[in-house]
Amino acid sequence: MLSRMLLLRLSTSPRAEAFVRRSRFSAGLVRRFIAGETLEQARDAVRELNAAGMSATLDHLGENVTNPDEARLSYESCLRLQRMISSENLDANVSIKLTQLGLDISADLAAGHAGRIVDHAHELGQFVRIDMESSAHVDRTLQIHKDIWKQRRNVGIVLQSYLYRTDSDLEDAIAAGIRVRLVKGAYNEPPSVAYGTKTDVDAAFLRQTRRLLDAGDYPAIATHDVRLIRATQAYAAKQSCDASRYEFQMLYGIRRDLQAELLRQRHPVRIYTPYGEQWYGYMMRRLAERPANLWFIMKNLLRR
Ligand SMILES: Cc1cc2nc3c(=O)[nH]c(=O)nc-3n(C[C@H](O)[C@H](O)[C@H](O)COP(=O)(O)OP(=O)(O)OC[C@H]3O[C@@H](n4cnc5c(N)ncnc54)[C@H](O)[C@@H]3O)c2cc1C
Repeated sequence: MLSRMLLLRLSTSPRAEAFVRRSRFSAGLVRRFIAGETLEQARDAVRELNAAGMSATLDHLGENVTNPDEARLSYESCLRLQRMISSENLDANVSIKLTQLGLDISADLAAGHAGRIVDHAHELGQFVRIDMESSAHVDRTLQIHKDIWKQRRNVGIVLQSYLYRTDSDLEDAIAAGIRVRLVKGAYNEPPSVAYGTKTDVDAAFLRQTRRLLDAGDYPAIATHDVRLIRATQAYAAKQSCDASRYEFQMLYGIRRDLQAELLRQRHPVRIYTPYGEQWYGYMMRRLAERPANLWFIMKNLLRR
């Protein structure tokens, strides 16, 4: 627990970032969790996933930008990514983070960029997923989604089971017919807003998964937790909910064995595929989810 909190704190520290970027071991870690730094590497990674029978959602890494020029650059790279998905005929869509599009500078700025990304996706016949960030951003993220949703239906949200508010947000999404990706939640949240134990978070995740299987529109159940995946499948079977009516999502490079097993069962699987140079915050959150991954770092350090 302590190492999780420490790693999450380090994930937002510029000094820790400078240290990790200078370190020799970062290349191995980046390869493990990130599809590459360039658009071409991302394309190659998605081709491999597609060839294996999985679809992808591509994330051009970056978050919490602090000036409008950076937000515009992120927006433009997302448009390039969407064009590449179409021209290369990839089975993929994009996931976007509103702080990458300027949410911390102004909600209007982020909303404008996100709205145009969803319009562009609509022209290309694509879908856009808006990732969910820390609890301080949830209200604004849901509001921006709601405004775009009035015009366009090709945009979904993410809800985090660790937040107390999620049962209520989930009912709103179900009532409106909004597509939801359900995750446990990856940020360092205080007990005033989020469950603090795995038992409580898992119970919320399972309760909300069942609700989505009963009433949601093509929900994405995003977890690597074998127990929850089995419980999802068991509940779906009991409710005669066909495997084609929902998908499992997992992160690039994590539990490839489980991804392959679900594919063998002919279950739709989508892989969240991050790429780009701004990998630090994303990678640190992945380490925090499984501090045992730190052994991976230590091994690499000792090997050199
Ligand atoms: C497709 C996808 C999209 C996501 N989008 C968001 C988002 O928008 N907002 C957000 O807050 N969070 C997001 N997350 C992250 C999520 O909130 C969790 O932090 C993350 O998925 C770990 O939780 P878990 O469900 O896998 O369960 P856990 O209980 O953390 O892990 C269960 C098991 O999975 C394996 N595992 C999990 N993580 C790792 C890892 N990093 N390395 C190695 N093994 C691991 C281990 O075997 C572990 O025992 C996303 C996750 C996925 C899969």
